[in-house]
Amino acid sequence: MSDTTRRRPLIAIAGLGIEASTFSPARTEAPAFHPMRGSEIFDRYAAFLGEGTELRRAADWHPALVGKALPGGTATAAAFATLSDEIVERLRAMPPLDGLWYDIHGAMTVEGLADAEAVLLRRIREAVGPDVLISTTMDLHGNVSRELAHQSDLITCYRMAPHEDAEETKERGVRNLVERLQNGAGRPLKAWVPIPVLLPGEKTSTRIEPAKSVYAQVSDAAAQPGVLDAAIWVGYAWADEPRNRAVAVVTGDDEAAVGAQAERLARAFWEAGPAFDFVAPVGSLAETLDAAIESDKRPYFISDSGDNPTAGGAGDVTWTLARLLEDPRVLDTQRVAIYASIPGPDAVATAVEAGVGATVTVTAGAAVDDVHEGPVTFTGVVDGIRHGDRDAEIEVVIRVGGVRIIVTKLRKPYHLERDFTGLGLDPRNADIVVVKIGYLEPELYDMAAGWMMALTPGGVDQDLVRLGHDRIRRPMLPFDAPDFDPDLHARFIAPSNEPLTGPDE
Ligand SMILES: [Zn+2]
Repeated sequence: MSDTTRRRPLIAIAGLGIEASTFSPARTEAPAFHPMRGSEIFDRYAAFLGEGTELRRAADWHPALVGKALPGGTATAAAFATLSDEIVERLRAMPPLDGLWYDIHGAMTVEGLADAEAVLLRRIREAVGPDVLISTTMDLHGNVSRELAHQSDLITCYRMAPHEDAEETKERGVRNLVERLQNGAGRPLKAWVPIPVLLPGEKTSTRIEPAKSVYAQVSDAAAQPGVLDAAIWVGYAWADEPRNRAVAVVTGDDEAAVGAQAERLARAFWEAGPAFDFVAPVGSLAETLDAAIESDKRPYFISDSGDNPTAGGAGDVTWTLARLLEDPRVLDTQRVAIYASIPGPDAVATAVEAGVGATVTVTAGAAVDDVHEGPVTFTGVVDGIRHGDRDAEIEVVIRVGGVRIIVTKLRKPYHLERDFTGLGLDPRNADIVVVKIGYLEPELYDMAAGWMMALTPGGVDQDLVRLGHDRIRRPMLPFDAPDFDPDLHARFIAPSNEPLTGPDE
């Protein structure tokens, strides 16, 4: 390390990120990762690696490839092979490296593979050699297997959900890497503690208890003498691999402090387990509709949460829409209901051709995810047409009785008021607004006088137990009775340049 203290360290950047449900039949191909190369990568991280920034000047940076996809289905084996081959080729072409920043989400599932981010990191290690110091930064909804903790020298994740500290976290991971290389401190100790709890993000917002208090302890743990960084991963609930669960990891140079802080965080999370609950009242779709119709709060929002496209749902599950179209209370023209949304390219073409005011019969949805219900057919009046949306391309509103159904050419999340008003809809004066979403995004939350989350089926079903996980480790909450006492002692994971020892767990 003596030479790296005299010159600027040479650091590569690589990573792939997606949150991918294994309970959705959707598949993700390589272009969906929008792979960035060279200077595009500096643009992505301009806040702390842009031209002239302190960290940019502190090292000689070599961006390889970084790809980030929107949440969706499992990545295809071909997509993973193409992107990881390119990462490895680019790294092999680089001069000898001192460090590598591995920026991932941590919930990438790949056809035929388990623990994809660790598999990729092992390939990266083979390309760059055992002496390179690797800093891994992640989403707190990612998963940290023993192997990923072993291959990484530094590892951390966000401390906030929603992820307001995403850039800050990446910067911290990069800064710690640069400093370790500059001061020649080498590899820190790593204490890893698996926590047998698997929770959806809708129960673990750090804006509310108990996650608020649990996560408040992370920065305190990281500030202890002899500790470099500290993190708790909630894990990703909608994939079925042995790594899916919560984990705490603390890194640093003082063995006692590192171990004690890792155990403290793991115990805090475990003990809060029974208190983690949904951020909104929940019920079956029928219960949420009953509540909305009986309530005098307007507008009343219902989250169609099982098919939330921004958590990994296909976004085209028709189950909820089919139930709404069967319900005379929803079809009653005395009420104004809005349904956002269902993809149906043929339905959109039919509506566009017929024009506003025409009556059309169309079929939409279930092109990707038809596990719970097939495509739905309905007859209604075309109320609005809009061209040019970045995600949807074309959106139409078809009114069936009292319900205005938004049909899109391509899938699109409806998170903003203007997503509705731009279509001539007035959600503030609607009775019921049903949206494919989990917790309401801020603009919808502000609009909603009443709100319930419907536990609907889909690739990101909030009722985890009925999904049928069978590869996760057991016992695990909430899949087993809470009458077991987990081993929450700190496991010190071998440095990346030594073999991984100890039981596979
Ligand atoms: Zn996340």
